[in-house]
Amino acid sequence: MNTLIVLAHPDPRSLNAALARHAAAMLERAGHSVQLTDLYRSGWPALLDRGDFLQLAEGERLRPVEASSVAYATGRQAPELAEEQARLRWADLLILQFPLWWFSMPAILKGWFERVYAYGFGYGVGEHSETHWGDRYGEGMLTGKRAMLSVTAGGWASHYGPRGVNGPIEDLLFPINHGTLFYPGFDVLRPFVVYRADKLDAAGFEAAASALEQRLGTIMNEPPIPYRRQNHGDYHIPSCELRTDLGKERSGFALHVDDAT
Ligand code: FAD
Repeated sequence: MNTLIVLAHPDPRSLNAALARHAAAMLERAGHSVQLTDLYRSGWPALLDRGDFLQLAEGERLRPVEASSVAYATGRQAPELAEEQARLRWADLLILQFPLWWFSMPAILKGWFERVYAYGFGYGVGEHSETHWGDRYGEGMLTGKRAMLSVTAGGWASHYGPRGVNGPIEDLLFPINHGTLFYPGFDVLRPFVVYRADKLDAAGFEAAASALEQRLGTIMNEPPIPYRRQNHGDYHIPSCELRTDLGKERSGFALHVDDAT
């Protein structure tokens, strides 16, 4: 199995870096291949800008979707974009290791998605017709691969529970899990979350590292979150609305998970 770990933390001595190293070491001991994209260490530029698109003439208006489409299709992207796309193609499993910052991923990781998910790679794939609305939400360039968020949070588990003041962790992570991972085809696994991370002591780290190790030991057999696939009958096309006979007792993000109705 090939695993790509993307780490978003500014300090190599951090808890997040330690968890990334632990995961890599454990997977390698089990005979798997691992690549690490350490975003801060590599000086990853987080901002999508005209430097990403080598075909743009000086002074030419930047229209990001169009520029991304041309650069990707003609091999004129900034080299680091093609390198990260190649790593994604290589990987069977993607692990994103990051601290929860303002209820989402750190900006540098958001910038990794914005830049690496080119038009024609992360989105803008497949035909649009009366029965099929692009290769997305369960189909796409990254179909057949698995992805898991490994997140540390300062708050308590109860703060992120069904009645917790922060909102349920499944909802907070939905835009990443569903919107950026399921969208281009990943099978998305339940997140691995370490709560009260700032208070963690050595024993807490051992417990967290061993829980992560256990997850990774069986990760290729774990059932993914059953997000509904867009082009397989649950949604009207082209409006992309869920059929009214499905998800009756639900609302919001939970409508798009097919584990009950
Ligand atoms: P570190 O500070 O590196 O370490 C945390 C603890 O783990 C330390 O006590 C350290 O000693 C200990 N530790 C134990 N073993 C090890 C080991 N082997 N290696 C390294 N450390 C070890 N929290 C929320 O819940 N929601 C938010 O929306 C949120 N927003 C934030 C926004 C910002 C800008 C910031 C800075 C923090 C925010 N936080 C939030 C808190 C944040 O999620 C935590 O600070 C973070 O998850 C801790 O991870 P770390 O890698 O930075 O921990």
